[in-house]
Amino acid sequence: MPDRSDVPADLVLTGGRVATMDAARSWASALAVRGERIVAVGTDRAVGTHIGPSTRVIDLRGRTVTPGFQDAHGHPVHGGLVRMRCDLHGIIGAAATYAAIAAYVAAHPAEPWILGGGWSMADFPGGMPRREELDRIVPDRPTVLPNRDGHGTWVNSRALELAGVTAETPDPPDGRIERDPDGTPTGMLHEGASELVERLVPADTPADLEAALVDAQSYLHTLGITAWQDAIVRPASSPQGPTVSGSGTEEHAYVALASRGELTARVVGAMWWQRDRGADQIEEFVERRARTSIGRYRATSVKLMMDGVLENFTGAMLDPYLDAHGRPTANRGMLQIDPVGLREWVPALDALGFQPHFHAIGDGAVRAALDAVEAARAANGRSDTRPHIAHIQVIHPDDIGRFRALDVAANAQPYWACHEGQMDDLTIPFIGDRWRWQYPFRSLLDAGAVLAMGSDWSVSTPDPLLEMELAVERVWDGNRGGREPLLPDERIDLVDALAAFTAGSAYVNHLDETGTLEVGKLADLVVLDRDLFDRGAGAIGETRVDGTFVGGIPAFEAPGLDA
Ligand SMILES: [Zn+2]
Repeated sequence: MPDRSDVPADLVLTGGRVATMDAARSWASALAVRGERIVAVGTDRAVGTHIGPSTRVIDLRGRTVTPGFQDAHGHPVHGGLVRMRCDLHGIIGAAATYAAIAAYVAAHPAEPWILGGGWSMADFPGGMPRREELDRIVPDRPTVLPNRDGHGTWVNSRALELAGVTAETPDPPDGRIERDPDGTPTGMLHEGASELVERLVPADTPADLEAALVDAQSYLHTLGITAWQDAIVRPASSPQGPTVSGSGTEEHAYVALASRGELTARVVGAMWWQRDRGADQIEEFVERRARTSIGRYRATSVKLMMDGVLENFTGAMLDPYLDAHGRPTANRGMLQIDPVGLREWVPALDALGFQPHFHAIGDGAVRAALDAVEAARAANGRSDTRPHIAHIQVIHPDDIGRFRALDVAANAQPYWACHEGQMDDLTIPFIGDRWRWQYPFRSLLDAGAVLAMGSDWSVSTPDPLLEMELAVERVWDGNRGGREPLLPDERIDLVDALAAFTAGSAYVNHLDETGTLEVGKLADLVVLDRDLFDRGAGAIGETRVDGTFVGGIPAFEAPGLDA
């Protein structure tokens, strides 16, 4: 590299604790940026030589600088939409949920539909609120509120009436209408049954989705996020997908922003695998990858949703779920993609350079995903497509070592690794001893797996620092100090959690010029408001972001950044 140290830097950060996250996990106190790249990392004195008359110098005063956070599995367009509607995420308790809905309804008298969602199953008996409660708050306007994991929808009587759903309506093949003993719908629609009502919801227009992405992007920058993988991108040409119907899609939104140069984050799109189709859709992925990869958006991943979730027994398990008395049932959940077909399709995707991005919750789904990658390795040898399995809630111990052996990255959502109502009341009793196989992050690291992390926002908070706290503590932040950790042997160190949210997720995103702070790399970085590794400074999740830079350009600056 030619020596250009005579040309001053545009930006110098000095007097801090720079966590480079390089292979040695080395630390520095200062860093210099010229253009979009890092030109020096080292001591204040050495980096200080890059300061010229017009260099912006930020005195860190001991604060930590890290590589930009990368969310390896999120749904920011949907998250932005929910933020603009009746957003129930993070609200605790049924009474507070009702109050939040009432406040939104009062503030939006002209909205014909009440949409949004994000309520927590743990707040309602059996995980299920009822239509009567919604009817009291919204008697006249149809109301459709999915829960925070999107596998169940709470609706009011007006919505059921518009959809013509009655005691006589049969369950659809891919879902279930919750009913009272006389057959009357209670107001909860599970999985595919939500479609009975959601198909009537006015479509999200392309303009709605663009606005949602703009909102989500600026919000995520305030949390230090510089890149993400969108875990469901539906095609702009033929909208089809699991939860939202309408004429706008995520693809519209990314292409629109990227074409105008307004996509400041780096984004990998995981194109949705349509489960009612087979290999015929692969050529459409090839076409979309070529047509839609613009600017900072690249459509290079394919999302394969293997199963559902444990709380409603749709997660695919190797052995059956238990009933409320701890006895085995006949239900193992189910794979939502044919595992035989998958062992043909995943090698075909891999051969074309597509990254398989699996959703797998149950140990049966994890194994089927690993088997499919094994088939790809056998057919194609080692590729650089970097397959990853998101969620990994239950992993059979025999499969832990296969992540490294097959070069499959573990894509963890650490915010779920804690005791709370959904875990203690709706999961553990129904899987028995297998509860000890949940979220085995330490075991995966010890076995040499690459660990990436993400939020699954809007399912959970998109705040990476809060998520890192749960990876380290395995205690819900709503109950700090109050409960025992979930499987404390599976806790990981903060430096490993930080590596997962930076270098690990950058690896999964194929953003090899990011993820660490090294000379020559892109200046995607975050300035925190404290020394992150000073454990006397409060909970990890209380850390705030003072500044976020992407390619050397500020994407977010808090008032305290220069102060
Ligand atoms: Zn997801």
